[in-house]
Amino acid sequence: MKLLKMPLHWQIFIGLITGVALAVVARFFHFETFVTDQVAILGTIFLRSLKMIIVPLIVSSIISGVTGLGDAENFGRLAAKTFTYYIMTSIFAILTGLVLVNLIHPGVGANFGFHQAPHNINTSAATFKETLLRIIPTNPLASMVKGEILPTIFFSLLFGFFITRTSDPYRTQLTNLFEGIFRVMMKLTHFIILFAPIGVFALIAKIIAQTGLEAFIPLFKYMLTVLLGLIIHATVTLPLIIYLLGGISPLKHFKAMSAALMTAFSTSSSSATLPLTIDNIENNAGVSNKISSFVLPLGATINMDGTALYECVAAMFIAQVYGIHLSFVQQIIVVVTALLASIGAAGIPMAGLVMITIILKAVGLPLEGIGLILAVDRILDMLRTSVNVWSDSCGTVLIANSEGETGLKVLNHPPSE
Ligand code: ASP
Repeated sequence: MKLLKMPLHWQIFIGLITGVALAVVARFFHFETFVTDQVAILGTIFLRSLKMIIVPLIVSSIISGVTGLGDAENFGRLAAKTFTYYIMTSIFAILTGLVLVNLIHPGVGANFGFHQAPHNINTSAATFKETLLRIIPTNPLASMVKGEILPTIFFSLLFGFFITRTSDPYRTQLTNLFEGIFRVMMKLTHFIILFAPIGVFALIAKIIAQTGLEAFIPLFKYMLTVLLGLIIHATVTLPLIIYLLGGISPLKHFKAMSAALMTAFSTSSSSATLPLTIDNIENNAGVSNKISSFVLPLGATINMDGTALYECVAAMFIAQVYGIHLSFVQQIIVVVTALLASIGAAGIPMAGLVMITIILKAVGLPLEGIGLILAVDRILDMLRTSVNVWSDSCGTVLIANSEGETGLKVLNHPPSE
């Protein structure tokens, strides 16, 4: 019972550690199939429950948020700030990765024998043009049914906006209806989140039991480069941005978001984590739904700093392993395509891995290069997804602050002090 009174982020942390411990013991005593078959079911239940709420949560959250926003001017300003933040931070992340990969040279001299051809990988990532066009749904309900996030967001934004353009009584009725649905969805989210510690425990146990820690050895330098880049971006670049531009305390904000970050780590999915991200940002950081409902769902799909950094390092690593020198111009192409690939990657596990094909094609690197980094991708995915969610959340508090929100609980100097 005492355990249940413990703050949720500690409960999740305990779940994370015990999950890793179980997996290590299972591999040692050879009962990993018990973990990957039986224990994993708990993780699947948690993940399915999160996925269950994503579409109704996004739709109701965006519609009620946009109706709260009021006029087109507010909407335009918010969109401009949001996209500027997304693009700037992703570019910072990519440049961090580029500098590190050029300093550390993780792929130079690595010997892989080139026989690990990729398997089970669908290398036909959509082109950028297709991705853009797909934002507009030909049938919004079909998009919602299929769980396609960007078209759902697009339609919900428009729907919410035009509710504010209709006259009463419909405007009030619809505003109240979607506000009501949103409240219900948040309560449901809260309930599912209570099971996060068990879900996180099972998900992490399954991944480590499957992958093992041995796979890391030949790719150690590569992993280190990605890890170092992610750490610099998450603990230096983003904290500096929110501290300097918004007077936000990175530590307080980190504490507020810790449950979402650990869930991102264990699910490797920004989209599945979205319910927790929204919950944490509104309840712990004190951001209004008006702001969070716009910045977060979009961010979960298109703002992926961790993925952007990883895409760049991975492509450069592949070039180094094959001994292909990339000129300055080619490295610029890597930067630009890494940005596009991170925008195009869905918020689901290993989406980033497939998107690397865009970069490899753009600079003429062998597509089989993906096979080299396959073994450790899941682990790196966990890390980059946490950074993706962290960046979304930093952007949300920063924008809320710039919009003059007074209820923020993560300010360095709260107004009352
Ligand atoms: N798993 C990441 C996410 O959901 C995307 C990726 O594979 O990089 O944010």
